[in-house]
Amino acid sequence: MIDLSRLLTEKTFQGKPIMVFGIGSSGLAAVRALKAAGFEVFAGDDNQDRRDDTEKAGATWVSDPLEFDYKTLSAVVLAPGIPLHFPVPHPLCNIAMDAGCPLISDIELFGLAQTGRNPIIGITGTNGKSTTTALTAHILNQLGMEAVAGGNIGKNALDLPQYEDGKGVYVIEISSFQIDLCPHFRPDITVLLNITPDHIDRHGSMEGYAAVKAKLFDGADFAVITGADDYCKELAARLDTTIIRDTPVPTDGLPRLAGKHNAQNIAAAYAVCRRLLPDMKDAQFRHALETFPGLPHRQEIAASIGHVVFINDSKATNPDATAPALDTYENIYWIAGGIAKKISEFDTLLSKHGRNIAHVFLIGEAASGIAEYLQKHKIPYHYSETLDTAVYEAYQMAAAMPDEKSHVLLSPACASFDQFKNFEQRGDIFRQLAQRITAAEGGRTHAVH
Ligand code: ADP
Repeated sequence: MIDLSRLLTEKTFQGKPIMVFGIGSSGLAAVRALKAAGFEVFAGDDNQDRRDDTEKAGATWVSDPLEFDYKTLSAVVLAPGIPLHFPVPHPLCNIAMDAGCPLISDIELFGLAQTGRNPIIGITGTNGKSTTTALTAHILNQLGMEAVAGGNIGKNALDLPQYEDGKGVYVIEISSFQIDLCPHFRPDITVLLNITPDHIDRHGSMEGYAAVKAKLFDGADFAVITGADDYCKELAARLDTTIIRDTPVPTDGLPRLAGKHNAQNIAAAYAVCRRLLPDMKDAQFRHALETFPGLPHRQEIAASIGHVVFINDSKATNPDATAPALDTYENIYWIAGGIAKKISEFDTLLSKHGRNIAHVFLIGEAASGIAEYLQKHKIPYHYSETLDTAVYEAYQMAAAMPDEKSHVLLSPACASFDQFKNFEQRGDIFRQLAQRITAAEGGRTHAVH
């Protein structure tokens, strides 16, 4: 657990009580770390069922946070899921702010406690954060440094191990919601991968979203920007920094890091590693890339049989996140659909990235909306409705194409909540179905030969 004791005397906190609002796993981690540091901690959630766990972690439960005297607190730690501005702020936010009580995130606590003790790499962007965060930590470990990934990925930042001063590196994935709640924390190295439309509902506008991302770079020590979009270009010009697109290390022949988008993620990791380890040899970096195991649900190779490969890209919940997968493979039997945020984005997706699609298998609520754009772009499709039918049909069609490497790709460009608990469940089911098909077919091939 991260040691927050330094914050007790920090001027923002001055030993005054703190409230944690929104008791998910990062909220509980905040309660535990604050208690361990000696803070008095209040905690609440709109869901009163969270009370038992919260009290067990040592906080005083607040049943009605709208009736609380926020002047007595030094800060409220808000869970990332609680709306701060858009679509409407949680009523607690205005009450606390009117009382002059700052709203912060667990990442702010983490950053303020660790700055100057151990290097912190902050990684943000619309797409590629988790991959780049995991990849950077993996490479640093391979190069002999103690490094751990956390934040939005894997462990909560406050649950990470406390390194002795100067003995480790923290690689932290930071979402735009958390940046909004980090008034003081600035990572030692800040990485911005790209800025494309997503989560606009939570930030009011694209400009608002970009401004939040840019905030993390105010006074940045060392910035790494890899995106070629207008917002990244503007920020790079403002910071007088060049946009990094390449590395001197070849990025081909890496099936778990395939595609141009991953070359961008690798370039970001390279810039970070070079900064931390100026003597790093390119051959060592390349070797570390080769041993990266990849992340589940991000262009994960789920199974393969004969010339058919099953790719699980369930994490792609919007057309922008799907685009790289459509560009990476040939002969794609594409499974798409679910809940679409903005159906018109499929028009751009198909016109710019549709050329490798052989056939589309539509599932979920957005199916007919997507079908309109498939017709417009003359891409063959049909309604499979459910994932299990889609996987089976896609395999049948792909397998019938002799000797051409084909890809059954789940990259739905939609959220999963109409048919699944979350994208992880959707991807897990896809992987099981793919493995079941390959096991059955493998057995059959075996029997025939
Ligand atoms: P995040 O954590 O930002 O959501 P992930 O690393 O989990 O990002 O990747 C999510 C999806 O975004 C992947 O399925 C992949 O297709 C796509 N993606 C990954 N890296 C990039 C990138 N640099 N640019 C654009 N899209 C990307």
